[in-house]
Amino acid sequence: MRRLMFVCLLICSLPALALDRSRVEGYLLPNGLQVILKSGYERDHVSIRLVVGVGLDDFDCDQRELPHLLEHLLFSGIDETGEGGLEERLQSLGGEWNAFTSSADTTFVIEAPARNQRKVLDLLLALLRDTRIDAKALATAKKIIEREDGGHYSHLQRWLDRQDVGHPASDQLASELGLKCKERSDLDDMTLEQVQHLREHWYAANNMSLIIVGGLDRVLPAYLERTFGTLPSTEPEERRTLESITQQAEQRRDLTRGWLGDSVKLHWLFIEPVLDNGNDQTLELLSRYLDWAIYDQLRLRHGLSYGPSVLRESFGDSGLLSLNADLERQDIDTAVNVLEQLFDHLRKHGLDPDTFARIKDAAIARENWSTQGNTALADYYWGALNDYEDGHFADPVGKLRQVSLKEADAALRELLKEPGYLRIEKPLLGYDELYGLVALLLALIFAAGLIRRRRHSESRPSGATRER
Ligand SMILES: [Zn+2]
Repeated sequence: MRRLMFVCLLICSLPALALDRSRVEGYLLPNGLQVILKSGYERDHVSIRLVVGVGLDDFDCDQRELPHLLEHLLFSGIDETGEGGLEERLQSLGGEWNAFTSSADTTFVIEAPARNQRKVLDLLLALLRDTRIDAKALATAKKIIEREDGGHYSHLQRWLDRQDVGHPASDQLASELGLKCKERSDLDDMTLEQVQHLREHWYAANNMSLIIVGGLDRVLPAYLERTFGTLPSTEPEERRTLESITQQAEQRRDLTRGWLGDSVKLHWLFIEPVLDNGNDQTLELLSRYLDWAIYDQLRLRHGLSYGPSVLRESFGDSGLLSLNADLERQDIDTAVNVLEQLFDHLRKHGLDPDTFARIKDAAIARENWSTQGNTALADYYWGALNDYEDGHFADPVGKLRQVSLKEADAALRELLKEPGYLRIEKPLLGYDELYGLVALLLALIFAAGLIRRRRHSESRPSGATRER
């Protein structure tokens, strides 16, 4: 009987288990705030994401950190208890929060028990509306950001930045191509007025999306209209045009990282093509294919690298796809040869159909398990906001299925049309060079000693004769 009941329960709960993540309850509040609600698997918890449509890319190089500065300032406190008081209130509700400023947006990330969801949302609303920002808070936030960026921005660091020293290869290439600022923006110059202006013009209801996933309160829609519905909206600010490639970059460069060692990193970077069908999934599949191809070549066949990988990044209006490999210093030329042969082969013969089919199937399978749980699902909606329309997120599985071998092949040829950019990150000296230097130094000391001894023995007898 018990077992029968269990089976009944299981069958009854099946529809709830099969969650269609692309369907959500989405609507605009009268003030223009985009709401996205989704009942998640875990009923006793909610994941909240408030995405504000302002990021680092909305400002020129000298003002770039401004949205990041405001993001920090908004945690300064809503009353005389200050920053600590605000944190205490969230803690007593069992919640945790954080915020992130990226090139495209500023996002407040909250995890909280479902039973306190309205109280936590009250606190988030208070943070947006009532945070008092004064000169003292401004100075503190500047210090925190300075620390996050690795300490005070010294004249030496600024000079090094201008010479492209000490940046990851993709950052270095991006700034060489004119896609990225050469140096950090100067926090010291940023004023309270600038921060207030940003807050008034960008932190507007019609420039925000509120995503809530998990055990949703039944009265949540009415609550949101009563609370978040009161946030003011403004005429939207024009978003800044993103940087395009304006400069030529060298095809190959060695970048110095550290002083001594034999481990080097090879990066082969390509500018991603803009595809006619605009399908990002095509490039995604291509990067996974290349990831497999370099693993196969550099690790399995030639044993040159243990963790080769492919990475896609965007800078300004362009995407960079990089093939990365850790190597021993003496293997650089061999690895470069192997990769050149791989690219030539791909240019000539295109993708291998069986490998492509296998990688595509694996990517589709991955889509089905990679957004399990409220937190992952909320993050997924955050990342896919551009693909949202009328209560529906574009289904990545369907898009992946649509990518044909022919399309992927065409994209590959477009990607490999140019030779790409090779960047080798290596320490100033390898051990062999160090031993060579030490040997040279010892030889010099020895030679100097010999010369001195000879001079000494030449001068002594003459001195001795005079004495006599
Ligand atoms: Zn920060």
